[in-house]
Amino acid sequence: MIDTQTASSAICAAVDALTPVLTGFLQRLVQSPSLPNQEHDVQALIAARLEELGLTVDIIPTRFSELADHPSFGDDGFSPDARINVVGRWAGDPSLGGGVGSLILNGHVDVVSAGDAALWRLPPWSGVFEDGKVHGRGSCDMKAGLTAGIFALAALRSLGYQPAHDILLQSVIGEESGGVGTLTTIVKGYRADGVIVLEPTQQQICPLQSGALTFRLTVRGKAAHAAMKIEGVSAIGKFLKIYDAVERLDQERHARYHNPAFDDARNVAPISIGTVRGGEWHSTVAETVVAEGRCGVFPGESNEDARCLLSETIQSVVDTDPWLAANPPRLEWFEGQFASAETPVDHPLIHTLAAQHRQIHGAEPAIRGVPFGSDMRLFINDGHMPAVHYGPGDVRLAHAVDEFVDVAEVVAVAKTVALMVVEWCGGRIVLSPLHYALSNPSGRRM
Ligand SMILES: [Zn+2]
Repeated sequence: MIDTQTASSAICAAVDALTPVLTGFLQRLVQSPSLPNQEHDVQALIAARLEELGLTVDIIPTRFSELADHPSFGDDGFSPDARINVVGRWAGDPSLGGGVGSLILNGHVDVVSAGDAALWRLPPWSGVFEDGKVHGRGSCDMKAGLTAGIFALAALRSLGYQPAHDILLQSVIGEESGGVGTLTTIVKGYRADGVIVLEPTQQQICPLQSGALTFRLTVRGKAAHAAMKIEGVSAIGKFLKIYDAVERLDQERHARYHNPAFDDARNVAPISIGTVRGGEWHSTVAETVVAEGRCGVFPGESNEDARCLLSETIQSVVDTDPWLAANPPRLEWFEGQFASAETPVDHPLIHTLAAQHRQIHGAEPAIRGVPFGSDMRLFINDGHMPAVHYGPGDVRLAHAVDEFVDVAEVVAVAKTVALMVVEWCGGRIVLSPLHYALSNPSGRRM
């Protein structure tokens, strides 16, 4: 009797055998500083690796002209037609049978700035491997996740696996600045029956995410000589009244929302004002304040509803203030307008992934929501595909100084993802000299 356990042991052994190569590959990815619009070199590395694995590789340029009419397009200000996405396809053979359907493994190669390199213990693009960890900008967010996906496929390839349904490995650009890479793949028609976005989740299964809407608020006052303060109206004072009301709204919204999938009930979809610029001179009553911030969107809430609540809150202050009523503040929505997204926790994608996690770890995975945006929302809301985050690394290290990822975690995710591919995409695995069919959902066959 050949069972799932045997196949699973073989897959784990195959991933373990590849660990030195996996580590070296991740180091090389980190050593390529793929800031926005500088993703070309790292994409070439990934395309070459996918070709070595025998995948059919598509190089897909992101062209803003082809996205401009899409409701989820956000012009991120970087090169409008010169950046490329890489999609490797491992074609399934439907005659092999089994499994649920096709699968996309998605990750982004763009990274955020390293900031002041002098603050880092190791140089941000060093990719140093030390004490089991790979260090550098992008190691955790999220070259580790991409590496785990690629080496899951490499391990399966080494075992002679043949899927019944297509597997797509997508390496995209532009996630940090709004998602133009993944949106390109959706607009070009790349689809699957399930998507794993390999973002750093510490191997928690995260099928929910909040959204975020960027806004600008302009408040007008009346300038006067500071010595004649009572002749003027301070825009700073008026702004502070609005600020207090917005803070209260943030607290009330969180008090009303209950979802145990989020770690901290006070921080699911925060409204935060990030910049305030006001006043013209120290001895002039401030004429103008311009504040910019982000308004969170709760799972299940529409962008429009969240916008309405903020604008009604501002209006409630205006209604009690004759100056503001006569000089209404202006609220504008600009740049990132990211919707929230959710795949139901009882979806087969979630429980199938949870079962593979259990098999590798011998424990239940945590199923959590995340308060940050990612390309998952585009798959769910625009591509209408079930999607989930699952990957190695701690998101608290992402975008931070001294970012790193633990290679053991990358290896564990590669194993879980490899098992997931076999379970989800069906087909056949060949463990010479015996042939193991995995063509029924339980994987049990003589
Ligand atoms: Zn990321």
